[in-house]
Amino acid sequence: MPPEHAAGHNLMPATVETGALCPLDTPRFLCDEMLQGLGEWLRVAGYDTRLPETGTEDRDVLAMAVAENRWLVTRDRALALHRDGPLYVLLLESGGQDACIRELTGKLNLDWLHAPFSRCKRCNTPFREGPLPGSSASPESSPQTLLHCTQCHQTFWKGSHVRRMREKLREFNRWRRTE
Ligand SMILES: [Zn+2]
Repeated sequence: MPPEHAAGHNLMPATVETGALCPLDTPRFLCDEMLQGLGEWLRVAGYDTRLPETGTEDRDVLAMAVAENRWLVTRDRALALHRDGPLYVLLLESGGQDACIRELTGKLNLDWLHAPFSRCKRCNTPFREGPLPGSSASPESSPQTLLHCTQCHQTFWKGSHVRRMREKLREFNRWRRTE
């Protein structure tokens, strides 16, 4: 059992309706290859989310979740039946991305405004503020409106696209449980 589980204080409240233990207070995720879009939204919300390469064997995906203490989010029931399944697999039974997001939100009472736009949607690396070093920022952008990824060298402009995505995150949060 990993130390986070044994420590107890890092566990999510017992009210979590997954039937499983959540690895950490701030959950980390591993989305299987059928749920890439969901995984990208988790990154947009600021959650550390790994997306395994296409074709990775089920047992390797599960081993990755255990080693890195991540929720393995999947629609594959066989993964949930594995020995480590009850602790690490978060099985979604909905079809379609929005329905899956809704189900996940309900199960973990997930906050989609946790840390929006703090990590790269493409590669999961935390963003840095300002323009990419060595690049000439576009004239209409002030350094405060730019983010960049040191891994995949993308510059991200906090413009209307971000406003639309933030609106979407707010919509997801309407599916949270009201306690
Ligand atoms: Zn990146």
